[in-house]
Amino acid sequence: MGKPASPVDLVVIGAGSAGLAAARTAREAGLSVTLLEASHRIGGRAFTDTEAFAFPFDLGCHWMHSASLNPYVEIAESLGHAYTKDDFPRRIHLGDRWATEAECREREAFDERCHGAIKAAADAGRDVAVTEVTAREDRWTPMFDLWTSMFASVDSDQVSTVDSSSYNDTGENWPLVDGYGSLVAAYFSGVPVALNARAERIDWGGPEIRVTTPKGTVTAAKAIVTVSTGVLGAGDIHFEPRLPDWKLAAIESLPLGSHNRIGIEFDRDVFGPDQGDGFTVYNETPESIAFQIRPFDRDHAVGLVGGRFSAWLERSGPQTMADYAIEKLKGVYGNDIEKHIVRTTCSAWDGDPLVRGAYSCALPGRGGARRDMAAAIDDKLFFAGEAASHEFIATCHGAYLTGCATARAVAESLGVTTQEKRHGTA
Ligand SMILES: Cc1cc2nc3c(=O)[nH]c(=O)nc-3n(C[C@H](O)[C@H](O)[C@H](O)COP(=O)(O)OP(=O)(O)OC[C@H]3O[C@@H](n4cnc5c(N)ncnc54)[C@H](O)[C@@H]3O)c2cc1C
Repeated sequence: MGKPASPVDLVVIGAGSAGLAAARTAREAGLSVTLLEASHRIGGRAFTDTEAFAFPFDLGCHWMHSASLNPYVEIAESLGHAYTKDDFPRRIHLGDRWATEAECREREAFDERCHGAIKAAADAGRDVAVTEVTAREDRWTPMFDLWTSMFASVDSDQVSTVDSSSYNDTGENWPLVDGYGSLVAAYFSGVPVALNARAERIDWGGPEIRVTTPKGTVTAAKAIVTVSTGVLGAGDIHFEPRLPDWKLAAIESLPLGSHNRIGIEFDRDVFGPDQGDGFTVYNETPESIAFQIRPFDRDHAVGLVGGRFSAWLERSGPQTMADYAIEKLKGVYGNDIEKHIVRTTCSAWDGDPLVRGAYSCALPGRGGARRDMAAAIDDKLFFAGEAASHEFIATCHGAYLTGCATARAVAESLGVTTQEKRHGTA
């Protein structure tokens, strides 16, 4: 970042999936762009740890959701990043035995009824908590709540029926062998970015926008803000003048919940054959855990937790997180597996000051908030990111698509026409 910097067409704040896509699209349209990232690395919540284990480990996003509509699938293919068609863990362990096929089918049928009820409520304009329209006394209710807490990162009582049913889910969730974060980092490696350049203040009241960072001030005609609603809601960036009430309401309506991934590496295969994609340990409370078992045939398990329980575990610290997951695995595979643990690692997104949570979910009654989140202010201050996606809510590719679409909107407002790309909607 030069000092004093000459004005640019566009300043993008945050180099996660959305910000990187925005900066790249705007550059391709011929705009001059400065991309500011507070961290020492790009990717944001798309982050693959390549040091903790003998193999890459996703601390953030992992599955290419809605794969046949997901632009990262084509990107992965073009860059030679392998993926599999493994899915979410489907098996169930009931504490002392595996659930039978009939029980698994019963649970799936219950889930389908819940999703049908959520959709019916949303279609009828009933924007209420998911708990208000789903059966609460069923044997499988806590299982539904547990998985909702992972999909939404908040518990069912905090999920809007309208928001939940707006997600365009094709049911295909494909993980990347070398990690989703690795793919994002590789694809955008050529995009110039100012690292360790935290936007502290955005002055947007005058004819130009000025963004103040510890490395100097950037002046631009337009800005795209892509930081999380956790960061915006906490007031970590000072906007002058303050953001209008409707934008503040949208930010407040889309809080981030908690979701974390706990990795346990073993020195051998301690699980045996036929483990499928993994399983949920089901103790009939939502305070439970699901596991991926030996993804990509590597000797590790990944514990998945969500919602209030994830937040509580994270606050208790990484040792408690790992111990909890190990105890649950021992309950299924026996105490001996502990001898073969090489090391553990876990994410802690709530405590990351540059994100402050996992991903956004609209509060009950606020199901339309993503449209206000995506709307520009005065054709000058634009917003992108997972919270601004209304079709692929809360996802990495949803964030990417909002970044592309918003950059094109900026280019158009500067009088530049852009070529529509194939996957070009938010
Ligand atoms: C544990 C976990 C699992 C997930 N699993 C999946 C999954 O399987 N599939 C999927 O599609 N999605 C998944 N997600 C969600 C997905 O990772 C996010 O929706 C997506 O990566 C968000 O991208 P973004 O660009 O909107 O925001 P971010 O990635 O948060 O990018 C914002 C950037 O802004 C930077 N920043 C913050 N403050 C400032 C500032 N003041 N100045 C400058 N820069 C700043 C941040 O450092 C960050 O790099 C998961 C998320 C988590 C946490």
